[in-house]
Order: sequence, then structure tokens, then C-alpha cells
Amino acid sequence: MAKDHVSMARLYKRKNKMKIDPHVHFRDEEQSYKETIAHGLKTASSQGVDYVFDMPNTSKLILRKEDVLRRLRFVPEDEKERYFVYMGATADEDQLKEAASLVNDMKEVIGLKMFAGKSTGDLALLKEEEQRKVYSVLADIGYTGVVAVHCEKEAFMNDSFDSLNPISHALSRPNIAEAESVKNQITFVKEEGFKGNLHICHVSCKESLALIKKARDEINITCGATPHHLLWDEEKLRGSHGLLYKMNPPLRSKEDVLALREGLKNGLIDWIETDHAPHTIGEKLYEGFPSGFPSLYLYKELIEKLPDWGISEEKITELTFKNIVKTFNLKI
Ligand SMILES: [Zn+2]
Repeated sequence: MAKDHVSMARLYKRKNKMKIDPHVHFRDEEQSYKETIAHGLKTASSQGVDYVFDMPNTSKLILRKEDVLRRLRFVPEDEKERYFVYMGATADEDQLKEAASLVNDMKEVIGLKMFAGKSTGDLALLKEEEQRKVYSVLADIGYTGVVAVHCEKEAFMNDSFDSLNPISHALSRPNIAEAESVKNQITFVKEEGFKGNLHICHVSCKESLALIKKARDEINITCGATPHHLLWDEEKLRGSHGLLYKMNPPLRSKEDVLALREGLKNGLIDWIETDHAPHTIGEKLYEGFPSGFPSLYLYKELIEKLPDWGISEEKITELTFKNIVKTFNLKI
């Protein structure tokens, strides 16, 4: 008995120090030169991250069971329990049902990811009717898991991006593009009676936070913030290396950054997620100018900054582990 008690206490302590990064883009296959699961997991370890949730917008999208099985083959044998993956959500009813059933049936499948705006890769539901349909189909089949959404509304973006003036990227995807998409998702969830958890990925601005705060009384909603949006503001886009800091959603104003830091403190933001998305420097600086930053490398730096921002140890445990375990009902 005594021995059990000691090991339980040890386990409890260990769990309280564990960390999860619930948003990474490990690539493999023809994009192995950008990142692989094996290398990404090593980077995670070096940053103190124990578990990762990988995103489905890989070169071959993760939509069906066969895609998950193919993906899992890239996970090193002794790292299997550290790796979880999202299924992409499309407007195809059969695909959605299959993906939702995998969330329930396979422990590696963590939730569904919807791109409500174009970012990297070819997995976006740009039409409002398509986005609404996702919630309606999932409500019909009684799915109660997580739907994580990349919120940026195309109608509020513009083509003002000019690679010679990288700050134009922030102007081409303004705060309102994110906030209007967040507003849409909340409306669709309510109107379609979706009973799962709506997760707003990488919130970047105060307008989104206000909408999420208001929605908390009515629906199951969470949101995450990235190290880059918490540590840096849009000034980074003005420097001579501005193109390296191009990501979606873009870096924002100082005011937005402060609102995000406050959100960590007051519980408005549920967790930290890196949105780790490496590209080569050559790709970043030349035609194509892909969005994304290798933000797993910022994880430790961010965690070490949190006490300076008035965030308690207990809150850090919630932001890096407890809130994630609770929302995803993880058994780890
Ligand atoms: Zn992402």
C-alpha cells in the first residue's frame, strides 16, 4: 500500500510537470526537408514538451483511416505514446463521419481540424455553408469531441501583400478577418446545436478574445495562443528579415500582444500551442513566401518568461497541460 502511495505521488508530480504542444506541423514524405515527426519530437523534447498534436494539412492530407495509418508509420517505435494527430474536416459528409468515428476509436486521433480560410496546404472550407455543414453533420451524429478551427475569413483579406514590404502581410490579413471568422464559427455552433468543443486556434487579437469570452456562457469553446504572437509584435515584419516572420494569422500590434498576455493570466486563453511550421530560409525569402515559423524552438523561452508577466506556476501547469488533458479527455 505504502509503495503504491509513493508511486502515485511520484506520478502526480511528474504529470504536473508534463507539457503538451497541441498544435504542430510535422511534415515527412516529400516535405521531409521542412520537418519530420522523428526530428520534431526530438525538438519537442529539447524544449521540455512531452506530447504533440500534429496537424492534417500535410502534403497528402489526413482525411481517412488509411491516411492516419500511413502517417503513424513515420512515428519512431519508442515515441508512439507521445504522438497524436488531427483529422482534416472537409464538406464531404462521409469523410466527416469517418474522421469523427476515428476520434472515438483510435487513441492517436485527437480531434478534427477545419481551415476556415486558406493558409498552408490544400485543406480549406472557404464557404460559410460548408463550414456550417461541418457542425451540422457532427451534431447529427452526436460527435462531442474537439473541432479546432483556423479562423481567418477570406472576404476580409486583401491582396496587398508585397514581398519588398513584409509588413503588408499583416495589413492583408487584418484583425477583422480573424474576428469575423471566429464570430461565424460561434454562430454556426449555436445554430446547428453542435455539442462538442469548438477550439479557436492561435488567437492573435483582442477582438477575437472578446468574442470568445462572450461565447463561453453559451457553448463549449476554448482558444490557444502561440509563442510568436505572445513574444513578438508586427514590428518584426518591418525589419530586414521581415519575411522570416510571415505567418498566419500575422504578428499583431503591441496592444494585441498585451491583450494576449493578459488572456493567459485571466484564463481567457486556455493553452499555449506553438503552431510549429518550419520552412527553409530559401523558401521563406523567395517567391511563394510561405507562412509559418518553427515556433517549437520558442517554447522554453516563452515558458521562462511567463512568471515575469505575473503568471503563477499553477496557471502555467494549466496552460501547458491540465486544460489540454481536460478538453481532449486524454488518458495519459
Ligand atoms: Zn497551424
